[in-house]
Amino acid sequence: MKLNLQDTFSKELPADPIREQSRRQVMNACFSYATPRIPSNPSLLHVSDEMLEALDLSKEDAASEEFLSIFSGAKLLEGSDPYAMCYGGFQFGNWAGQLGDGRATNLGEVVHNDQRWALQLKGAGETPYSRRADGLAVLRSSIREHLCSEAMYHLGVPTTRSLSLALTGDEVLRDMMYDGNTAYEKGAVVCRMAPSFIRFGNFQILAANKDTDTLRVLTDYTIKHFFPEIKVGCEETYLQFFREVASRTLDMVIHWQRVGFVHGVMNTDNMSILGLTIDYGPYGWLEDYDYNWTPNTTDKAHRRYRYGNQPNITLWNVAQLGHSLLALIEDEQALKSVLEEYKRNYVERYHHMMASKVGLENSTPEDRKLFIRLEEILQLSEADMTIFYRELTNVDQDSNDALEVIQSAFYKPEEITGDIAEQWSQWLNDYKVRLKNEDRTAAERKIAMDKVNPKYVLRNYMAQLAIDKADLGDYTLIAEFYEMLKRPYEDQPEMNQWYAKRPDWARHKVGCSMLSCSS
Ligand code: AMP
Ligand code: MG
Repeated sequence: MKLNLQDTFSKELPADPIREQSRRQVMNACFSYATPRIPSNPSLLHVSDEMLEALDLSKEDAASEEFLSIFSGAKLLEGSDPYAMCYGGFQFGNWAGQLGDGRATNLGEVVHNDQRWALQLKGAGETPYSRRADGLAVLRSSIREHLCSEAMYHLGVPTTRSLSLALTGDEVLRDMMYDGNTAYEKGAVVCRMAPSFIRFGNFQILAANKDTDTLRVLTDYTIKHFFPEIKVGCEETYLQFFREVASRTLDMVIHWQRVGFVHGVMNTDNMSILGLTIDYGPYGWLEDYDYNWTPNTTDKAHRRYRYGNQPNITLWNVAQLGHSLLALIEDEQALKSVLEEYKRNYVERYHHMMASKVGLENSTPEDRKLFIRLEEILQLSEADMTIFYRELTNVDQDSNDALEVIQSAFYKPEEITGDIAEQWSQWLNDYKVRLKNEDRTAAERKIAMDKVNPKYVLRNYMAQLAIDKADLGDYTLIAEFYEMLKRPYEDQPEMNQWYAKRPDWARHKVGCSMLSCSS
């Protein structure tokens, strides 16, 4: 098995000179060397064929003993000098100081077809950033990360990817719901891939430590490798960088809103500088359309990371990043103008996204009312977001039975009477009138709508079913979901079972509607 390793992060940025694994505060460095932990009895559960290809590896490579060894942490890739990144972050709005890769080790960067891929093992043991935790990950959260990162990619959402999912053969002690009920769970390791895993927090920790020199080196490095379109060496370089990060991050969050993804822990250490969805923890998929919904039990009280608040939090996070870059940009007014721009762009891109979801081609600001009303009505009773938009494609300007057409989206159809039914009828009428101004035929519109409204997403209970089976040693559902979620916008009649509302048993079940950060 041959990989074209070409490290830049660890070669071009300052390293922590201490090589031992002790937990410590790291200064004037971007990373510390850290060796993956050797698992006691590793086994491979699933490999993404697409990520194999991205690394120029074959199915035979994936089946080799060497592959398992390297991607479970048992053996080091030739030429690899693994490390953990140093970063800080604002957690739930408060500065938390140094965090860093507490359970991730970076194996290195592979270049293939002009594409750079950093490889990172998550759950491979302690690093200097492990603080009070064990550096490990459990099977349930690893399945969720592996499946969801690949699914998000196929939904067209910027995201980190996942190459492989392996059991370590070790047990990991967790208090899943933080209620004193600790239990041993199966340990697992995921190999994540992304052009880079740099986060907002990598910059923030340097700014917090007033280490402007290293901050500049890291920023120059990031621009050079990942923002080649930015002109370097001019007065505007760093501001341009900040503007571009804000724009990419906004794009990401608009996609989240489009597909109904709720991240659950949008702390600034979980914000990729490349605008990728990163760190799949207590995330969830919006089932009934509810702006207030958060999957994260730790967030239940304040709901900071609720679905409807994600664009605001993104802005808040971007503002914190700007604050950290102030030492380089030295122009507070210019930073503020980027935040103002974010707000304007948000309104525009949100509008564009909503227009595409309901199938309006040349949408005007006038349509805004239609979108706002729709979002209000969707929240009057439990309506399944995915099914609603997917079925709306079957409404056309002449439909007499529009409310019938979308009926299957309602969790409690018996509630759609009286005032609620009236509001729906009104909205559907307005919508049909608006469709008369469209040039596209109903069939053309349906094709376009089906490209932005997924039919299949990794519903919370589906991930839990895959986990429950895997716990019993049956990994078939992981493979089935992986394949199905490669084509989320296509009708797959044989997968009809998964185009369905959340079953009632999953309504309040741990792992389905309630997730914790314990992973
Ligand atoms: P998260 O909220 O999962 O993104 O994690 C926040 C911080 O805690 C990061 O620095 C993680 O590396 C660290 N962390 C989370 N779980 C563990 C663990 N089991 N062992 C060590 N560090 C962890
Ligand atoms: Mg994290």
